[in-house]
Amino acid sequence: MAVRAISKACEAYKRDKKIRPKFRPLGAVAYDQRILSWKGRDRVSVLTLAGRIIVPVVWQGRWLGTTGTVLRGAADLIYRDGKFYLAVVIDVPEPPAGSEPAEWLGVDLGIVNIAADSDGNTYCGKAVRAVRYRNRQLRARLQSKGTKSAKRLLAKRRRRESRFARDVNHVISKAIVSEAKGTGRGIKLEDLSGINARTTVRKAQRADRLSWSFYQLRAFIAYKAALAGVPVVLVDPRNTSRRCPGCGHIDKRNRPDQATFRCISCGLAGLADIFAARNISGWAAVSLPDAA
Ligand SMILES: [Zn+2]
Repeated sequence: MAVRAISKACEAYKRDKKIRPKFRPLGAVAYDQRILSWKGRDRVSVLTLAGRIIVPVVWQGRWLGTTGTVLRGAADLIYRDGKFYLAVVIDVPEPPAGSEPAEWLGVDLGIVNIAADSDGNTYCGKAVRAVRYRNRQLRARLQSKGTKSAKRLLAKRRRRESRFARDVNHVISKAIVSEAKGTGRGIKLEDLSGINARTTVRKAQRADRLSWSFYQLRAFIAYKAALAGVPVVLVDPRNTSRRCPGCGHIDKRNRPDQATFRCISCGLAGLADIFAARNISGWAAVSLPDAA
């Protein structure tokens, strides 16, 4: 337990050496396999300052019923509202990869919408942008103040915004994966290594695009898809936003503005994000995501 305490202190200093961390008396205790072991699935043996105790466990969450799920010894013991919770690391087996799906759901990670798919669904554009705009304004105000309490508030807002973005990414990735699974399709995403270079984005929108955690969103899609047995492949992002999915004509002028696509050759028009997603669904795979 001394070893775990030392490592908890070390990790706190790793985040920021200049801040001396303070630990709450009932803060989380990190266990590992040396001081925690499982007695079947409904009892756990944990070391306490008064020796080892064996405690019955009630489970929340749905993965434990899955055959092949393995409990690890790594767990955080958390005390909240008069109850002890154990947050346990588990290994969940991936379903075996089936045959290559005949059809794919294309997903574009865009500017107007965080994501759009080739079925014509868009995910969280306006509402998210409004919240983030408000947060940016507030941050700018607090930053210019520069007082200690302003800095504290700033850090709090940052944590809250990252929780918000994480929630949004969970909701979007869940919806995309269940759409693909429900229709027996795989998912095609753009290879994001080129996302910053892909389009010339006006400065105001650039702040939106580059600061959104698309890498997290892609990672969420990859792991939720793996658990659901939905294949994910990455495609070359070049020309996804300029090509007409109707006639195949590629031209910068097909995009009169960020939100709109209007083919100068055949006249096909619609939402740019969804047209890009339709292109992606038909693109050949370049690689598998490494985020899974
Ligand atoms: Zn066209």
